[in-house]
Amino acid sequence: MSLTKYIAKRKFEETPEPTGGKASAKGKLTFVVQRHHASHLHYDFRLELQGTLKSWAVPKGPSMNPKDKRLAMMVEDHPISYATFEGDIPAGNYGAGHVDVWDHGTYEPIDEQGEVITPTAFAQHLHAGSIKFRMKGKLLKGDFALVDMEKNGKTWLLIKHNDKYATDEDYNSEDYAKKSSLAYTAERNKSKQVKKK
Ligand code: MN
Repeated sequence: MSLTKYIAKRKFEETPEPTGGKASAKGKLTFVVQRHHASHLHYDFRLELQGTLKSWAVPKGPSMNPKDKRLAMMVEDHPISYATFEGDIPAGNYGAGHVDVWDHGTYEPIDEQGEVITPTAFAQHLHAGSIKFRMKGKLLKGDFALVDMEKNGKTWLLIKHNDKYATDEDYNSEDYAKKSSLAYTAERNKSKQVKKK
């Protein structure tokens, strides 16, 4: 039986009651997307899971258009505290460049039917190479999937599910980047051109 009614009757922000066997008993899972202009511009997509941030580098950034299948290279887990990091990584260091938070919020792990599942079940789906989740960010909203294309834990596709939040317009994550992010990139491109001359 689904826990829908049990959940609908309660405000878990206020009651210490468990949300039930299917969902996390405490705390919400966070996500962050960081715009990272390193040697190449990319977006780092991170989902909190079991005390760490599972991370993917998405060269073109996320899209709210279900037609887009965005390449997402799985990278190393990051500490939870990384979710608020913004700033410059000095030259000569791994990932040297500039990092800004592009979007952040919470997410719910879900199954094929869209029912909320436990982090433990979600971790099993992740291991099997196919996860679905419900984003509650400022920019990213609604259901998404990440699918491991080669079943090797490296090459994934990030895909928006067709729901009320989806768009059928062209979606460019750069259109939503902070002014400071774009200024950094403009400056980098300018100095690159100077060097070419
Ligand atoms: Mn990165």
